[in-house]
Amino acid sequence: TVTDAPVRTHGGLRDQDRIFQNAYMRHDHLLKGAQSRGDWHRTKDILLKGHDWIIGQMKESGMRGRGGAGFPSGLKWSFMNKPGWEKDPRPRYLVINADEGEPGTCKDREIMRGDPHKLIEGCLVAGRAMNANAAYIYVRGEFYLEVAHLQHAIKEAYAAGLIGKNACGSGYDFDVYVHKGAGAYICGEETALIESLEGKQGKPRLKPPFPADVGLFGCPTTVANVETVAAAPTIIRRGPAWFAGFGREKNSGTKLFAISGHVNNPCVVEEEMSIPLQELIEKHCGGVRGGWDNLLGIVPGGSSVPVIPKHVCERALMDFDSLRENQTSLGTGAVIVMDKSTDIVAAISRFSKFYKHESCGQCTPCREGTTWMANMMERFEEGRANPREIDQLWELTRSVEGRTICALADAAAWPIQGLLRWFRPELEARVEEFRKRNGAVLAGGHLYKDH
Ligand code: SF4
Repeated sequence: TVTDAPVRTHGGLRDQDRIFQNAYMRHDHLLKGAQSRGDWHRTKDILLKGHDWIIGQMKESGMRGRGGAGFPSGLKWSFMNKPGWEKDPRPRYLVINADEGEPGTCKDREIMRGDPHKLIEGCLVAGRAMNANAAYIYVRGEFYLEVAHLQHAIKEAYAAGLIGKNACGSGYDFDVYVHKGAGAYICGEETALIESLEGKQGKPRLKPPFPADVGLFGCPTTVANVETVAAAPTIIRRGPAWFAGFGREKNSGTKLFAISGHVNNPCVVEEEMSIPLQELIEKHCGGVRGGWDNLLGIVPGGSSVPVIPKHVCERALMDFDSLRENQTSLGTGAVIVMDKSTDIVAAISRFSKFYKHESCGQCTPCREGTTWMANMMERFEEGRANPREIDQLWELTRSVEGRTICALADAAAWPIQGLLRWFRPELEARVEEFRKRNGAVLAGGHLYKDH
């Protein structure tokens, strides 16, 4: 445990406080390089402390899952250890969700290619916490280099006795496998990912049963995000109080943010949770292209979350609670910046097309709703809509939300809700302009004249 835990601050993470020291592969990603950055240091001691201790440390750190949902990690890691678990003869699995497919999100990729040993050590520690026998790392199929680095790191770890039989000399056996996905966004949903790992079509399962009871191959399984698991050994080595010292109550720790769009220097950077959104952009990205006043809006958590306009960006902190209070979400921490040159209607329409394409089609509200939303958004983009459809579009997003097997339908609805909440005049102006030009608009495929 380090003794010089930082005082609670909001922004201003020092270099030495960064867990992920090898973003952009500035250093060696191999075992020796990883060990020089502190990985695999006294891992055996951590394993020997046992599952309850590891889970306790994670609970104390306040870590909330970095995959988007923000569920408390320590609690999640305890779900497989229900009373009597020792008598269950089934194998137990940890599955790492490395199917990073959310538009705007590219943080886990940095870990897998620059710090693969952090993830493998994290699998071992998290696996010990869950009493799992093996970890499967399900990697997005397009990530060729990341898979190559992970596989090499796994080979190194086996050769050094860090994983496999008697991992790190702890008496605990633990295997790690890499599995490549095949390019379906829906396989980032935990139960679709499990189906895909089993060799089936990636279609989400109805819950319950939850994966902790019936998961991969019918066995107890926990699915966790790359960043969460890769950060765990460092959190435990430095002490949960150190990690909890960053950010705010219930939003503690550090987090990788991927900032893209209209900024001067797009980047992936680790910062304190609760850093003001404006500060994050100005400090690490050289500001918005053309200056802060040229900002139109920001999608702060990947394509699934509502866009917020400039004045809301100015009061938002980058954490779960602040962004929720501002009617959006932290999601994966993927910040998409749009300056005033952006056609915001076209941008959200593009998201809608993505979700329509990626819906697995099992649930009627999602299959039909994403198609309707995409079609309506396309008409708004072109101006060919009836102004009355603005309210209909809102109703449509509300009727899809929360009524499906998985959250893809919500993810399709929320960006449109953000657009309607904050940028309604843009939609009205678009329709009005079209009407002026044409004297009539097309709605629902029919020529429509408004009187
Ligand atoms: Fe498939 Fe959409 Fe239903 Fe999810 S919400 S299970 S993606 S149809």
